[in-house]
Amino acid sequence: MASLLKQLSGDRVGPGSVAVTLALIVILVGLIGPLRSVRDFVAELVHLDTCAALQGRLADRASQLTPAEIAAEDLASQIEGHSRAVVDYTSRVYTDALLAAEAIFGAIGIVTTMAEYSWVASALTALSIVPTLVIGFYVSKEMKTTWLRLGRIYRRERYIRETLSSRSALLELTAFGTMTRIGRLEKEAQAEICAVRKDPIRAGLRVTGISAGASAILFGLAIFSVFSSVGYEPEAVAAVYGVFGAVNAVAQGGSRVSTIVQYIPTIDAFVEFLDRPEAESSAPASWGKPEIDKIEMRDVHVSYGDGVFAVQGATLQVSRGEMIAIVGKNGAGKTTLLNALLGLVPISKGTVLANDRPVHPAAQEWWLRGFGAMAQDYGKYEVTVEESVRLGCAESTDSHAVDSALRAACAADFVEKLRDREKTQLGEIWGGTGLSGGQWQRLALARVYLRDANVWILDEPSSAIDAETEVTLFEELRRTSGTRSTVVVSHRAWTLRPMDRIYVMDEGRIVEQGCFDELVQQNGAFARLFREQTMSLS
Ligand code: ATP
Repeated sequence: MASLLKQLSGDRVGPGSVAVTLALIVILVGLIGPLRSVRDFVAELVHLDTCAALQGRLADRASQLTPAEIAAEDLASQIEGHSRAVVDYTSRVYTDALLAAEAIFGAIGIVTTMAEYSWVASALTALSIVPTLVIGFYVSKEMKTTWLRLGRIYRRERYIRETLSSRSALLELTAFGTMTRIGRLEKEAQAEICAVRKDPIRAGLRVTGISAGASAILFGLAIFSVFSSVGYEPEAVAAVYGVFGAVNAVAQGGSRVSTIVQYIPTIDAFVEFLDRPEAESSAPASWGKPEIDKIEMRDVHVSYGDGVFAVQGATLQVSRGEMIAIVGKNGAGKTTLLNALLGLVPISKGTVLANDRPVHPAAQEWWLRGFGAMAQDYGKYEVTVEESVRLGCAESTDSHAVDSALRAACAADFVEKLRDREKTQLGEIWGGTGLSGGQWQRLALARVYLRDANVWILDEPSSAIDAETEVTLFEELRRTSGTRSTVVVSHRAWTLRPMDRIYVMDEGRIVEQGCFDELVQQNGAFARLFREQTMSLS
């Protein structure tokens, strides 16, 4: 300090210059509190910005994953794990690095001052950072696997928590008196999360004893070397205080650096996830849609990996302008067959041909652009009506196209009566409008109309729709079917009458095919399946 005063005020230390120096020091020290507050605020702002930016990058990468990638790997859990780690760790790396740098600079200052008394004590004090870093490395090894394990549990926990507040679950399970079981599952999931999160902490604690021992020895040696070089003089007291201060500063700096070391595997895994190569199927927008005039499935087999074929030797075809139907009992393999056509489940044997040429599995993203598909468990997206319909099309669409799609899907009438029409927020979770099952289904169909694709795949498109609307809906489908190929799964006999061909599935095989009247006359599987319904039609 004396040398600093000298430097600040020149060689001659007079009362005037000391006053100036002291005033400077008083101002600086006085500012430490407010400056720390500013630093903490800035750090929090940086943390929030980093968190949003990293979550955005995660969402970008996750939205590029194909259904096949998600199904083949535990990617959904990895995404959940990364997302949680971003909030708790990854996004704090810049601010923690700033705090570490500050602590390390402070420590360097004190340790260098110590060297004026004893360079050995100074070196020993600096070395006391090593045990703290060892703890950091040890914990980081444990962290490597922790986030993946946590991803799986967090995902399950999120599902259970959402079930706790889901309207349909509340209605059903409260009536059954079993909602408390869901509450119990949530408690169990939380306990599991807590246990897994404690693993790295326990790992750290395990090595803390050894690390503390090593630090104590270094501290003892530093004190010893102070007395060796200064002797038992009054100055030694100041030097010992210096060692206390230096050890404390080094410990603080070490602890900050150790925290960053603990982040490294989590950040590595995050970067690896962002950098994973995009699926081969990624197709540039310039490729447009595939022009599909004819689709053929030849001897297609699909197994979900359990050795059982959900689809066995299925052969069918559909051309532009045709409407075909696939029918069969529950579990016969209809949805699996449609998913195989879309490339959403891998085919174990057989081929899918478009315009007489085999479809390359790697071109899936491009292939899907040719389809307008409505799944059996279609999405009920709780956004505005307009946004919900627009989700059917990657390109931007004007409100006129949305209106036409709503009309074609028999949804315009009920949307017209909603408080804000197309702008109405859907879903009671957000204080929006609740829709009936059939109304949700009509919005799902509107997405397909908006898409205007070559091939339509409709898995039970009217399962929740009333009989009167169903008639209008199928009339509209038939009226507009001329420019596309349409494949429908339906359990209602009358909807099958106008089909160009009907394929009947049983236990994964296509057991009959023909038009409605032919199949009724055959008096086989189709007739058995729809006996009650076809009698009223004939
Ligand atoms: P439904 O009329 O009830 O919709 P479906 O004819 O569409 O039935 P699929 O959903 O294709 O039948 O199921 C055919 C078989 O494949 C069933 O035995 C089913 O258990 C099995 N299956 C379907 N999805 C999976 C899956 N993801 N993993 C394993 N097996 C599956």
